[in-house]
Amino acid sequence: MARFKEADERLLNKMVCMSCSVTNAAKATRCRKCGYSKLRPKAKESRKS
Ligand SMILES: [Zn+2]
Repeated sequence: MARFKEADERLLNKMVCMSCSVTNAAKATRCRKCGYSKLRPKAKESRKS
């Protein structure tokens, strides 16, 4: 099984659909799969200095 820690780190900048849990681009305002408009940030660091 391959593991992609680097990829996981990059994924932290993604948005996750609250409906189907698909990962979307950080800039996305709607889910690319189901079109749901509520996305939550996957990043643990939600605060920007
Ligand atoms: Zn979705």
